[in-house]
Amino acid sequence: MACDVDTGAVFKHPVHCFDCDQTFYFTLRKIAEAQKLVCPLCGSDINLTDQAYGFFATSVKQTIDLRVVTGAMGSKKLRSTTTNGGH
Ligand SMILES: [Zn+2]
Repeated sequence: MACDVDTGAVFKHPVHCFDCDQTFYFTLRKIAEAQKLVCPLCGSDINLTDQAYGFFATSVKQTIDLRVVTGAMGSKKLRSTTTNGGH
């Protein structure tokens, strides 16, 4: 049970191939680092810079970034969310 887990290497996210109309799972790290993926079924390029994947690729990168930031801060706890009682 390793507790030092690389989030980006463990968590996977479905990526849709528009050529063969299938969904495949790639690790977040692979999605975040690659400009494009190769469909394991039809071999087509899945261009992550395409607008169809734009929001998706951005959110994946943000997910990894958040994890990295949280880990870097270590013991420091975020309390701003509870004290900010307004709207
Ligand atoms: Zn495909």
